[in-house]
Amino acid sequence: MKQDAYELLGVGRGADEREIKKAFRVVARELHPDVNSHDPEAEEKFKAAAEAYEVLSDADRRAVYDRHGWDGLDSRGFQPGGGQGSGSFSDIFEAFFGGDPFGGGGGPTAVQGGDAGVEVEISLEQAARGEQVEVSFDAVATCERCHGNRAEPGTPIETCERCGGAGRLRAVSQTAFGQMVRAMACDRCGGEGKVATTPCGECAGRGLRALRRELTVDVPAGIADEQRMRLSGRGHAGERGGPAGDLFVLVRVAEDERFLRDGSDLVAVVDVPAPAAALGTTVTVPTLDGDEEIEVAAGTQPGEVVTLRGRGMPLVGRRGRVGDQRVVLNVVIPRNLSARQRELLEELGNSVTEENLRRPEAESIFSRVRRALR
Ligand SMILES: [Zn+2]
Ligand SMILES: [Zn+2]
Repeated sequence: MKQDAYELLGVGRGADEREIKKAFRVVARELHPDVNSHDPEAEEKFKAAAEAYEVLSDADRRAVYDRHGWDGLDSRGFQPGGGQGSGSFSDIFEAFFGGDPFGGGGGPTAVQGGDAGVEVEISLEQAARGEQVEVSFDAVATCERCHGNRAEPGTPIETCERCGGAGRLRAVSQTAFGQMVRAMACDRCGGEGKVATTPCGECAGRGLRALRRELTVDVPAGIADEQRMRLSGRGHAGERGGPAGDLFVLVRVAEDERFLRDGSDLVAVVDVPAPAAALGTTVTVPTLDGDEEIEVAAGTQPGEVVTLRGRGMPLVGRRGRVGDQRVVLNVVIPRNLSARQRELLEELGNSVTEENLRRPEAESIFSRVRRALR
């Protein structure tokens, strides 16, 4: 009594084509005789699973099987069991080797070039306005002498003897289905199908060389420190017609002692002597556009912030959007007083009343809470 085909693959009777294919791959990998040489039954189990797959992966055979079981198939002349002629041979092959069983007809295998990386450092001002930066880096490039064909110019390029110009070799192996042919790149010509009789002297027959490359990179306004830019196709050259890799440019924005950066906002701290903060004054503040005078209101407290709208860093990719510059007023208490200054401060101190220490109504924490609750 032969085991049920659905049971062999572990799928339900309603399983669709994809589920069946998936289930077979799982079973086939588990049972493949090459990996189960210690288990004498593995080959038999594998054949049974393959047979079940042969039937269930074919709509006509599956319909017959559903109505009449294995007997129906035998009497109708179907010959399960796999082999080169079967439609599912390539599925089986793929399950083991993950490739095309017939080798795709030869020809060189294109290989994409690797990614390259370079670092640049710019100033905060450059980051603010955007900048064209020159970078130079070493990258694998097509050899200029042989133009990538690996031969010394003027010397012949011959068809590879090993693969006969196909660029591929076929490895024949014995499996449960009989012979299986597996294609792989020719090791002599590297899949090219051709061999240079005299290798190029510049690149030693590799067709590629490391070259110093100069490039102008457009750094967008507002770029953050340590942000990476990806320049597609600017990395190492590919092989045998493969595309180039990408270039990653790591942008470092140098620290600027005048500003701290908070996203798109800039923060500057200016000192204001305590008496001037009490009386009101003007102070000079650095901005990205140069020094600027700002008003400090009478009665300014330590840590108060003046916001200069739109004077920060641009937001990358958001045209016209610019952050703010916040100016923190650092009220400085005078130190190292002279006798006269002491006298004056003592006099001032003695004259201070509750009225001098009261917060303005608008700034009282309680008034803000009251407003929020209303
Ligand atoms: Zn060369
Ligand atoms: Zn070859």
